[in-house]
Amino acid sequence: MGDQSAPTNISRRPSIHARIVRIFNHNSDTRSIFLETPTMPPVVPGQFVSVAIPLDGETLTRPYTVASSFGDRELELCFNRVPGGRGVAYLFDRKVGDTLELTGPFGLFTLEAAPSIETVFIAEATAIAPLRPMIRRAVETVPLAPLFLLYAASDAEHLLYLNEIQRYAATEPLFSFETVITPEPWRGLAEIARARWIERDAVRKRQFFICGANEGVLTLRDMLRGAGYERRAVRYEKW
Ligand SMILES: Cc1cc2nc3c(=O)[nH]c(=O)nc-3n(C[C@H](O)[C@H](O)[C@H](O)COP(=O)(O)OP(=O)(O)OC[C@H]3O[C@@H](n4cnc5c(N)ncnc54)[C@H](O)[C@@H]3O)c2cc1C
Repeated sequence: MGDQSAPTNISRRPSIHARIVRIFNHNSDTRSIFLETPTMPPVVPGQFVSVAIPLDGETLTRPYTVASSFGDRELELCFNRVPGGRGVAYLFDRKVGDTLELTGPFGLFTLEAAPSIETVFIAEATAIAPLRPMIRRAVETVPLAPLFLLYAASDAEHLLYLNEIQRYAATEPLFSFETVITPEPWRGLAEIARARWIERDAVRKRQFFICGANEGVLTLRDMLRGAGYERRAVRYEKW
């Protein structure tokens, strides 16, 4: 789960009934649902909600990141199919008008305001979800230091929100990004991180926010921390 502690207090939070008002397919296996959530408390960029998933007489819960920003008209969850994944299959079966039961928001893998030190965001495919509102918050609260997004996927259709990312880069001089398309995204990301930061930074002053659903997240975390970046400067969330 990465930076955030386990959501042990889920049962003490009131449930939020959220109605699906819109569905958008990013590609053949990645979808966003947009929810009406009249009673949603404020969400800090990077936080997730816990979704109740009733299956075969039991109720599972699964965390899904809030991919939208607090104040947006609808709350967006963005997810991809996982082979054999029963929780996400339930979400793919939902239709406009259906209701989901959520608790939250939870999580400490967050960015509340524009950081004052140079910040690198690293993600693969759908795991851009927590970084998207963080980048938006940083760009909209007037960046104080360079922001760089390194975003990888195994093919172009799994790079999400590119129009928005390009718009930030065109309008905010302190924000830039690079996309990487490679069959093994985490190997590619680690190679770039080694060449660009580990081997070139004279002083380990940058901070990193890393998210993905692959062990590569932990490898990259350990590589950066092992190279001398402070523990708290290498923030991560592994799904
Ligand atoms: C804090 C947090 C936030 C998350 N936010 C999102 C989100 O915004 N969107 C999203 O799609 N998922 C997200 N996940 C993952 C999600 O909660 C589920 O684990 C995922 O949908 C699979 O659940 P399942 O019940 O279908 O399959 P399971 O059988 O429970 O999962 C099988 C395995 O799939 C792997 N996995 C998890 N997520 C993915 C993924 N996206 N792609 C490929 N493999 C995966 C995990 O290693 C997991 O052990 C998040 C997880 C955490 C911990």
